[in-house]
Amino acid sequence: MYSDFEDDDLDSTGSQLNEEAGYVCNRCGEEIVVPLDYSEGQSQQYVEDCPVCCNPNVIFVEFDAEGEANVWSRAEQDYN
Ligand SMILES: [Zn+2]
Repeated sequence: MYSDFEDDDLDSTGSQLNEEAGYVCNRCGEEIVVPLDYSEGQSQQYVEDCPVCCNPNVIFVEFDAEGEANVWSRAEQDYN
């Protein structure tokens, strides 16, 4: 993704990095796109309900040295 123009509706800090990534819901198999927040740190983890099947997923986000995001999820009930 290239930023050739300003995104007025995004609270961007001028980063050229990807602003969203996808994970696959464990329950329904749909790919869910989530926004990336680089200000939250290199390794992130949070719970989000799947917008398709409402199953709570634990979302993991990790950024590598190039700033590429790796995103994956686990079903919340499996994560204890
Ligand atoms: Zn789902």
